[in-house]
Amino acid sequence: MTHKIITRFPPSPSGYLHIGGARTALFNWLYARHFKGHFVLRIEDTDTQRSTRESVDAILDALEWLGIDWDEGPYFQSQRFDVYREYIQKLVDSGHAYYCSCTAERVDQIRKEAMASGGKPKYDGLCREKGLKNQQGAVVRFKAPLTGTTVIDDVIKGPIVFQNTELDDFIILRSDNTPTYNLAVVVDDITMNINTVIRGDDHVNNTPKQILLYKAFGVDLPIFGHVPMVLGSDKSRLSKRHGAMSVTAYREMGYLPEAMINYLVRLGWSYGDQEFFTVPDLIEKFSMENIGKSAGVFNPDKLLSLNADHIKAASPKRLSGPLLPFLVKRNCPASEGAFLNKVIETLKPRSKTLEEMAEGALFYYVEDVAYEEAAAKKFLTPDTVLPMTLLAEKLKSLEDFTEKNLEDIFKSVMDETGLKLGKIAQPVRVALTGKTASPGIFEIIEILGKDAVAKRLTKAVAHIEKRTETMG
Ligand code: GLU
Repeated sequence: MTHKIITRFPPSPSGYLHIGGARTALFNWLYARHFKGHFVLRIEDTDTQRSTRESVDAILDALEWLGIDWDEGPYFQSQRFDVYREYIQKLVDSGHAYYCSCTAERVDQIRKEAMASGGKPKYDGLCREKGLKNQQGAVVRFKAPLTGTTVIDDVIKGPIVFQNTELDDFIILRSDNTPTYNLAVVVDDITMNINTVIRGDDHVNNTPKQILLYKAFGVDLPIFGHVPMVLGSDKSRLSKRHGAMSVTAYREMGYLPEAMINYLVRLGWSYGDQEFFTVPDLIEKFSMENIGKSAGVFNPDKLLSLNADHIKAASPKRLSGPLLPFLVKRNCPASEGAFLNKVIETLKPRSKTLEEMAEGALFYYVEDVAYEEAAAKKFLTPDTVLPMTLLAEKLKSLEDFTEKNLEDIFKSVMDETGLKLGKIAQPVRVALTGKTASPGIFEIIEILGKDAVAKRLTKAVAHIEKRTETMG
């Protein structure tokens, strides 16, 4: 590669960052990072009716959460109207564009007539050779070639050929003196030195117009790659009914950004049959050649299972920060540090989301364990009073909480009571956690520590005795 790769992500801020947009951002970012190039962020907010500051903030927030950082920008198209007008003037001066004074009614009429006779609804070129000067209510149109073809050399789809007769003398400056979308995109991409454009294939029909503009400006074309759209499970275009569309909604549901990144990249890119990728791994391996030609199908179950994999692979230190808000939401008095890290270690293999992990962590922090009713009924029975009392006593005199020592203690309780491990472990689990499913009993005992364990066992014994009394 002789020149620096410069890619861009230009969202229109009329909503949150959705799955498809995030994937486009990711592909451009990975491509730039792979080649040690530049990634430019540009906010396409010329549609003042639909653009909002909240959307801009939501998009920036989502990119930051994903770890997609930019080297330049964010630029705002709404602040660049002077640049667009300057470039439009260049096209008028060089004869590539012209003022058109046709009224909207006239243009409508020509379109209708063209359609009625089975033709393409396009402007008839009345003002094309008039050499009109700027005047009230006029627009500027691009002088599109009347013959020949315009070809997109698409690195993903292969060459896409458009007949120029299909193209209109499209408007580049509206009568209210605002530039149109295709013009603004091309001027930005030229002035921001963008040489690689990866975007959704819903833009394929804009590209021939953009290519003609590049040629009229006399500058080199960027490399274009149009990525197939993301579909829902029923193969229709992805929408809300296929699951949450906003990327940050997944943060709220306890997903890790690295899992989201891993999932997004696989919605259209592959590397053999590898499924699990870290971000550094992706930066190393990402290439345009491996972007697929067929549409990716959004599968929330797959995203969930990747999230579980990334939770398993992450260190407790990595997880504690993002986990904390989920604990706080549950009024849990947890804070970051060695204790929480140990708690996380026990929950990693059994948590698909941080939401689940937080739920699973609560019992470590409560003063009074609340028993699940069915669990208490089934396991906190009178015959468990003796083993639990013995266990509490033996633990009290134990100096070192090693797994070996704990095993020995359980064994001696088994010997003294004649009960099997299963008969003891499950009631102890309920006594310590309130539930029938939890991390390993020894891990829990080690983390809770002697005093808390003894207290919980004593409380369970009291609970059993009280129940037997009221029943008896
Ligand atoms: N602003 C456009 C969009 O949000 C992107 C345009 C482009 O990638 O050229 O779809």
